[in-house]
Amino acid sequence: MSYTKLELYIDGQWISGGGRACEPVLDPATEEVLGMLPLAGTADLDHALAAAERALPAWSALPAYQRGRILKKAADLIRERLESIAAVLTREQGKSIRESRIEVALTADIFEWMAEEGRRAYGRIIPSRDPDLHWSVFKEPVGVVAAFSPWNFPGTTPSRKMAGPLAAGCCCILKASEETPGTAIELTRALHDAGLPAGVFNLVFGVPAEVSQYLIASPIVRKVTFTGSTAVGKHLAALSAQGLKSLTMELGGHAPVIVFDDVDVERVVRLAVGSKFRNAGQVCVSPSRIFVHERIMSRFAERFASLAADLRVGSGLDEGNAMGPLANPRRLQAMETYLDDAAACGARVLAGGSRRAGKGYFWEPTVLADIPPDARLLHEEPFGPVASLIPFGGESEVLARSNSLAYGLASYVFTSDLDRATRVSHALHAGLVGINTFTLSGPETPWGGVGDSGYGREGGIEGLEGYMHVKTVSQATP
Ligand code: NAD
Repeated sequence: MSYTKLELYIDGQWISGGGRACEPVLDPATEEVLGMLPLAGTADLDHALAAAERALPAWSALPAYQRGRILKKAADLIRERLESIAAVLTREQGKSIRESRIEVALTADIFEWMAEEGRRAYGRIIPSRDPDLHWSVFKEPVGVVAAFSPWNFPGTTPSRKMAGPLAAGCCCILKASEETPGTAIELTRALHDAGLPAGVFNLVFGVPAEVSQYLIASPIVRKVTFTGSTAVGKHLAALSAQGLKSLTMELGGHAPVIVFDDVDVERVVRLAVGSKFRNAGQVCVSPSRIFVHERIMSRFAERFASLAADLRVGSGLDEGNAMGPLANPRRLQAMETYLDDAAACGARVLAGGSRRAGKGYFWEPTVLADIPPDARLLHEEPFGPVASLIPFGGESEVLARSNSLAYGLASYVFTSDLDRATRVSHALHAGLVGINTFTLSGPETPWGGVGDSGYGREGGIEGLEGYMHVKTVSQATP
């Protein structure tokens, strides 16, 4: 099965070769080299910055309706190419082909939704205090955006950072993940083929720390958007502060799930196993601290471990496999570290617990119980296929434990008591709350966290407004 040609995209041109340094892109299921990725040097970054700056006046002046038509055409092309893009995604990232298809379809929906929503960037008229004054508020594109996307969702994360700025009338330079570049390249091909003017969108790869430092330092860049770890987010926020750049930060999480004793245990276990092992747990909203009421804990744990052990693990390209490999060897090392620490603390392994022998970065779906409160897994984002089951007795106790970390991305509560669901959802320290569901959002809804999980939102009208600033015009009669 073919992969894709690995190239940079700058000023409407596909660029590779030219003596640029390259690095291999690996298939995490086989450890084979899929291709060599060219890395941008500072001349390429200057080229992209100049192209974006040059394209900005015409793109921001183009009616939102016409910008939207190009984005809608790109969405249609992504849908036409869904099968081949999904195969690229699975080959470079590892997730099951079924998940990749869902992700690529969502990517097209994100382009389409932003294409529409760009037309509704309404301002407003404010009644003034003086009959001779007229007050109006306009929303304008912030300018050139520098965007950085990670490897766990190579389709949806770049698409939010492409569609939002472009719909708002901004130009954008995206540095997508060097480990999963092919999907971002395929999305860029769709934009190119849809007739996007040169320079409006540019795709680069490189040494992450060097590219981000260079782009953020440029006075051409007015907005920085990053999805990734909290540590890198704080670093980029500090760099951005020098130039007072506005920021959207989608960072890590350590999502608590609170399961009360009035639920349909079988239903909740099935949902929780599906959500926990999706994308091998490499999801910022993955359920990672599963608090289960002590009255139902033994039934819940037994069933959870049994379903987890039954999941078929293997190459994501094989339609019969439910879970693929981890995306890179760093995640395998992290799993080993967390499991060793948990074992040393006395935690009990109910399922999995180790790496699968042979080629590929496969880790067994793992379920742990009796985990002491100071185990690292309960404090650091696991970002892998490890479920921690923790018993609780009362509502206030479990709320305190759920809210005890600096993270605040997703939280979930399962109960059939409506009052309790409302009360708990209000008390949870999070940007996203699921009540009796793990489905948190779509292109229409804002996505993001509080605390160490970041700030700003992608998706929804907030995802568009993040790329716009507000201008107030006060007009007097001449
Ligand atoms: P990492 O912290 O090194 O990198 C995270 C992401 O940031 C990667 O895509 C990387 O290319 C990029 N990056 C790193 N340094 C950068 C810099 N100076 N400038 C610009 N980009 C930079 O860790 P990792 O091993 O790739 O991922 C592990 C951790 O990252 C996970 O444990 C998880 O907490 C977090 N993560 C979060 C998300 C998310 O969706 N919020 C996605 C991926 C990773």
